[in-house]
Amino acid sequence: MPEWWAGQVQAGPLDEKYLHDWSGTRYGTPAGLARPASTQEVASLVADCQRARQALAVQGGRTGVSGGAAPGDSEVVLSLERLDQVEEFDRRAGIVVAGAGVILADLQTMVEAEGWMFPIDLGSRGSCQLGGNAATNAGGCRVVKYGNTRDVILGLEAVLADGSVIGPPNKLVKNNSGYSLSQLLVGSEGTLGIITRLALKLVPKPAARRSFLLALAPDAGLQTVLQRCKFGLGGALSAAEAMWPDFIEGVVAARGAGRALPASFAGRPALLVEVEGESHDVLARLTEDFASELMEQGLVLDAILPASERDAQQLWMLRESIPELQAPIRPYVGFDLGMDPAGYESFVLLAKAQLQKDLPAVKSYFFGHVGDGNLHALVGPCRSPEEMQLAEQALYRHLKPLETCVTAEHGVGRKKKSYLASSRSAPDIAAMKAIKHSLDPLGILNPGRIF
Ligand SMILES: Cc1cc2nc3c(=O)[nH]c(=O)nc-3n(C[C@H](O)[C@H](O)[C@H](O)COP(=O)(O)OP(=O)(O)OC[C@H]3O[C@@H](n4cnc5c(N)ncnc54)[C@H](O)[C@@H]3O)c2cc1C
Repeated sequence: MPEWWAGQVQAGPLDEKYLHDWSGTRYGTPAGLARPASTQEVASLVADCQRARQALAVQGGRTGVSGGAAPGDSEVVLSLERLDQVEEFDRRAGIVVAGAGVILADLQTMVEAEGWMFPIDLGSRGSCQLGGNAATNAGGCRVVKYGNTRDVILGLEAVLADGSVIGPPNKLVKNNSGYSLSQLLVGSEGTLGIITRLALKLVPKPAARRSFLLALAPDAGLQTVLQRCKFGLGGALSAAEAMWPDFIEGVVAARGAGRALPASFAGRPALLVEVEGESHDVLARLTEDFASELMEQGLVLDAILPASERDAQQLWMLRESIPELQAPIRPYVGFDLGMDPAGYESFVLLAKAQLQKDLPAVKSYFFGHVGDGNLHALVGPCRSPEEMQLAEQALYRHLKPLETCVTAEHGVGRKKKSYLASSRSAPDIAAMKAIKHSLDPLGILNPGRIF
């Protein structure tokens, strides 16, 4: 064990949980684990690592699915889990300053008790950390209304590869004094700096929320229905999540006790829509009128309109039962595609036909945050690297290069890096590499991720 590790790095072997992210893939045996408890401790560790040319694997809540947080051989795992304090809560302005290791759900609960809401919301809310959300520019269910994590960040504090600390986090709503280093770090997946503190914008918590499920009519077209939601529900629209029939059947089968949907939903893609507002009665009238109108116009076959938020949870449970769906198809390939909503249906048909031809034994489930052009798919079991590659090609071959992307919200990490050139131009990638080289010339921060 190198002398400089004393007091700051614990030598391996490490607890199993530090060896992979949610995808479960391992990339090597890390040399040690550091769990600093302050920005100063992070800075001192990173400065020592740069001097010793010691590579680091930066870890938040390890709910990422691109392999970015999973350590490689001889890397030291740097876990942010002890930076878990909300340091400031300005209840007047709706701004919090929090440590990178704060769990997303903890922040949500804390601010909601005071009438505020942190609008980023993901199925992994109980484990993912704010630093990880920023590092991946996480999206989630309410992007259609509030934007990605990038849109709720006022400023960041971060430790650069030489141990210097940029910050303090900007808390001003408007601040154009020079480059936004915070926005450069958002979505950089731990390759440019280690986020230690974040200043975040809150929104007033809506008083009422309603969700409903639509069975799309055969000739309706998802994009047409989405467009109708945007215009018909206006500013109230807060989520629009699609689930293709195989996905719904898979979830109902995986959950066992789950309630099947009415027969009118059989074989049809379903759209789960959420609206927010100031009055339950107003939202009830809005959603009932809207659903009836879509049915009269032949755009939807049926609608489920739960009477309460509690009943609506059953619908959200369908959409969020991803872990249950994944279990029987491991090892699977997860897709996180960005595309023009006009192309969803034809893409899914083409991809399914290709999978049927190349990998007839695998199951494929399509779903996603379609309100903002983000289509997910799970394909498995793919039992060898060759099968994984066949699954990837079955989908990626139907994407238009540079007009679509292979990762809309999860990040490139290790898993998508060989496809980066289909989503970003050569000059884009060269500029990204130049930024990486200037901030981390020795390549100690998350080496082998993104590029
Ligand atoms: C059930 C489930 C549902 C999900 N739903 C969504 C969804 O709807 N939308 C979405 O975008 N994602 C989703 N995800 C993926 C994942 O939860 C997000 O990417 C999340 O933002 C990762 O946060 P984390 O703290 O777990 O980061 P980790 O997995 O630990 O790390 C992810 C990346 O960020 C880097 N990183 C972590 N912390 C820091 C830090 N402090 N400083 C610098 N770099 C850091 C890591 O090195 C790695 O490259 C889901 C995952 C699961 C398991």
